[in-house]
Amino acid sequence: MKLTYYGTAAGEGWPGLFCNCNLCNMARELKGKNIRTRSQALVNDDLLIDLTPDTNMHSLVYGLDLSKVDHLLVTHSHSDHFNPTDIEMLREPYAHDRNNQFHIYGNDMVKEKIWREVPRMSEEETRFQIHKAEPFHPIKIKDYTVVPLLANHARTEECLFYQVSQGDKTLLYAHDTGAFPEESMNYLSEQRIHLDLVSFDCTAQSCEDGKYHMGLVDAVKERQRLIDAGLGDDNTVWIVNHFSHNGLWLHDKMVEEASKYNFLVSYDGMEIEF
Ligand SMILES: [Zn+2]
Ligand SMILES: [Zn+2]
Ligand SMILES: [Zn+2]
Repeated sequence: MKLTYYGTAAGEGWPGLFCNCNLCNMARELKGKNIRTRSQALVNDDLLIDLTPDTNMHSLVYGLDLSKVDHLLVTHSHSDHFNPTDIEMLREPYAHDRNNQFHIYGNDMVKEKIWREVPRMSEEETRFQIHKAEPFHPIKIKDYTVVPLLANHARTEECLFYQVSQGDKTLLYAHDTGAFPEESMNYLSEQRIHLDLVSFDCTAQSCEDGKYHMGLVDAVKERQRLIDAGLGDDNTVWIVNHFSHNGLWLHDKMVEEASKYNFLVSYDGMEIEF
């Protein structure tokens, strides 16, 4: 399986769109891995996670090929993860020669936001279908099994993170979540699966959170919970991702701190095979 990170920042991006703080100005100057766009990742070449407002940029600059993508998992409706206006671009006269139906999986708020932005037409005309992602109800997508898990994030909607399995490989993509809720830990423990890659939220970087996001210390704690439950081990690839200038660590400092705990640090365009 392959995971490609296209966007690795929190909601404001890094540098933040209108931010003039020292860390954003340093990122503008240093460029490279310090430039982080908003949240998006791709499993193999066809299963997209989140539809950030930076999707067009990811396709223009980072080579995201949307012609192969026909399934989208949405974690929640926050604007850095879901930009519903792009959904309308699937149909004529905005997209020609696109015959594959686009399947969107998300919570009720995601559905609501789509219909606020996109005119209602037949599925044939809109070229998409919306499916409710229910926590702990596995979804079959091609040869993937996807399980939406409950996140610890905004209380105003049912925020999700996703377990994705293909063959004997399993990925846990856990962003915009604090410490994993007991229900999600119980579900994972009962599955007795081996997690081959875990991508932890690390929005708070140098700070502690656990209630809405994670900092590095929280990711260390959550990893230990997964290890103690027998879900991961030395063969698991442990990654931290989704960073904010408020966490105070530019890329090199993030790598220095994360490597003390054997975490890899994501950057825009990072590809990882596992
Ligand atoms: Zn976010
Ligand atoms: Zn800033
Ligand atoms: Zn969020």
